[in-house]
Amino acid sequence: MLTEPPAHGAGRYAPSPSGDLHLGNLRTAVLAWVLARRTGRSFHLRIEDLDRVREGAEQRQIEDLAALGLGWDGEVVRQSERGQAHAAAVQSLSAQGMVFECYCTRREILEAPSAPHAPPGAYPGTCRDLSPAQRDQGRRRMHELRREPALRLRAGVDSWQVRDLWAGEVTGAVDDLVLRRGDGVVAYNLAVVVDDAAAGVDQVVRADDLLSSAPRQAYLAHLLELPEPGYAHVPLAVGASGARLAKRDGAVTLRDRLALGESAAQVMERIGDSLGLPGCRTAADVLDRWDPASLPRHPWLVDLPG
Ligand code: GLU
Repeated sequence: MLTEPPAHGAGRYAPSPSGDLHLGNLRTAVLAWVLARRTGRSFHLRIEDLDRVREGAEQRQIEDLAALGLGWDGEVVRQSERGQAHAAAVQSLSAQGMVFECYCTRREILEAPSAPHAPPGAYPGTCRDLSPAQRDQGRRRMHELRREPALRLRAGVDSWQVRDLWAGEVTGAVDDLVLRRGDGVVAYNLAVVVDDAAAGVDQVVRADDLLSSAPRQAYLAHLLELPEPGYAHVPLAVGASGARLAKRDGAVTLRDRLALGESAAQVMERIGDSLGLPGCRTAADVLDRWDPASLPRHPWLVDLPG
C-alpha cells in the first residue's frame, strides 16, 4: 500500500525556465497536481530561475500548464526572488560550523584522487581542513581569478535515507556539496530545500533523474531543522533512441502538438494513455481515475507522429 501525505501539506511543480515544457515535463506536472489534489492539499508553482533561463520561457510554461487545466494556489514563486531566505539558510549552517570556503576549480576537483568508496564526482575534500595560511592563499588566488570562493557544506554523514512513494526507502550518498557557487549564485540543492519548506511542501514530485539528489536535500532540511518531505519521483520520458526526451525527437512540446492541429485534450489523452488510462481529456479526468500504485516504473517511451 502507498502511504500518502496528510491533507494539510502541499505539493508543487518546479520547472526550470530553460525552454518549452515537453510531454514528459507535462506528465510530471499533471501527476504532481493530481497527487496534491487527491489528498486535498495545496499545490504551488515555483519557477526555478537561478540558472538556465531562456527569455519568455517562464510565461510560456505558465500558459501551457494552465492550458492543461492545472491550477495552483497563491502567486507563482520565482526562486530568484528568494535570495534573502537562501542567504539566511547559508548563514544558519555557517553558524553551526557546517560551511567552508572552497577554492578549487572544477577541473581540480575532477582530477583530484577521490577517497576510497566515494561515488564518482564526489568532492575529494581538498579545502575542508585547510590552515589559516592556506585559506589566505586560496582567497588570494580567487581574487586573481576574479571569483568568490564557493561555499560548501561540511557534511557530517556520508549517506542519508529518504522515502519515495514508488521507490520506497532510498539511501543515497551525501558529500560536501556546494551551497553557494563561485559566481555567488546559491546552489539548487539548497534553494529547493528552503523554498519547499517555506511553501509547506511535504511531498516533492519530480522526474526521477533527481532521485539521487533527494538524500542530500533531505539531509540539508534536517540540518536546517526543516521538516523532511516525502518524495515521488516519476520516470523520465525518453525518445525513440532511448535518450531523455528532447527537441531532436520532433514535435514534443504542447505548443508543437497544438501547431500540428492537436488539441490540449488530445495531448492530455496521450498523457492518460501513458498511465494506462485511455480516454482522459482533462487533468480532472486523470485526478478521478488514476491510482498512483499503478504508475509504470519504467521510462515513458514517447513516439509521436509529426
Ligand atoms: N527545476 C528542476 C527541473 O526542472 C526540478 C527541480 C525539483 O523539482 O526539485 O528539472
